[in-house]
Amino acid sequence: MNTLSISRRKFAHLLGIGAAAAIVRPRITLATERPATKTASTGSVVRLSANENPYGPSAKAHEAMKNAHGVCNRYPDEANDVLIDKIAKINNVNREQIVLGDGSSEILKLCAETFTGPTQGKLIAADPTFEAILEYSKACGGEVVKVPLTPDFHHDLAKMGAAAQKGLIYICNPNNPTASITPKADLHEFIAKTSPETMILVDEAYFHYADSPDYESVIPLVKDHPNLIVARTFSKIYGMAGLRCGYGVAQPETIKRMHGFQMWDSVNVMALAAASASLDDDSQVTNGKKMNSEAKSFTLSELDKMGYKSIPSQANFIMFDCKKPVVPIIKAMKDKNVGVGRLFPAYPNHMRLTIGKKSEMESFVSAFKQVMAA
Ligand code: PLP
Repeated sequence: MNTLSISRRKFAHLLGIGAAAAIVRPRITLATERPATKTASTGSVVRLSANENPYGPSAKAHEAMKNAHGVCNRYPDEANDVLIDKIAKINNVNREQIVLGDGSSEILKLCAETFTGPTQGKLIAADPTFEAILEYSKACGGEVVKVPLTPDFHHDLAKMGAAAQKGLIYICNPNNPTASITPKADLHEFIAKTSPETMILVDEAYFHYADSPDYESVIPLVKDHPNLIVARTFSKIYGMAGLRCGYGVAQPETIKRMHGFQMWDSVNVMALAAASASLDDDSQVTNGKKMNSEAKSFTLSELDKMGYKSIPSQANFIMFDCKKPVVPIIKAMKDKNVGVGRLFPAYPNHMRLTIGKKSEMESFVSAFKQVMAA
């Protein structure tokens, strides 16, 4: 890593008093996930396709970014340290147990590169799940084994465990695209009995939205399991998808192995400043959850009235059965300027729908009614 000659205190000074306070207190991109980018900026398309946060970053994050303009000429080492310390404290781990990423996508990519491939072993993943890591692993020459979700949309941990031999097991919890969770008791038992030679990556991108008593982060288990890595992101509840910042938590030896594959300074100073400040704004999480939950309840009740059932959702998106092939529906919705999730081939009749603002969900309901009546 780069070592700058300025101290952390000096860095805070460079940011200016407000920024100092804010900092100290404070995808492979799957192109198909984001079909509406161009027109979304004009405001003419309702973008419910990429599980983004429609409300954006915290006001504190905006302020911190403004104040960080003055250090854009500096490498981000100091801001990196500030954020790592803060994340370590929040998660009750040491700073050596944190690796920051250019989005959690970078953490997924590092895991694929470090732990899968012709010599390291296969990647075992659910079907359907968030596919980025499958592509990263294939690019490393890794064999990818897909294990269908159970009929109640949990990861089939028994089958995933049986398919693994060294390599990496990827568990997305809550799972994208189903928004379903794999119960904490099952996951704990699975982690306890998996061979230490097989790495387990639990992707908790949607952690903040899950409120089921059956759900729990597995970060507290990292201390007992050298083969466990947990990925988190600032793209969802913190509204920073365009800024790119995520992190991984694991034991120091595991983090060191991953660092070997990482580009130096992969997270930019704006994202670091915004992420640090976001962690100081509890209301970003509570308000984000509340607004998501209200807009989700509205959408689910409208769909229910129309006779469409959703998989129980623990995230900022839902997946529901359209009772006929979803591809023509996706296209018809796009023609009505509503972007929805892409096809997940394992569930050809299901639509993945991001929960946007209430007004956006009203637009969705209106367009969906027309499309299904046509
Ligand atoms: N993991 C999951 C489950 C996701 O759904 C996403 C993005 O949608 C990511 C990781 C990547 O997020 P980012 O790279 O923006 O942190």
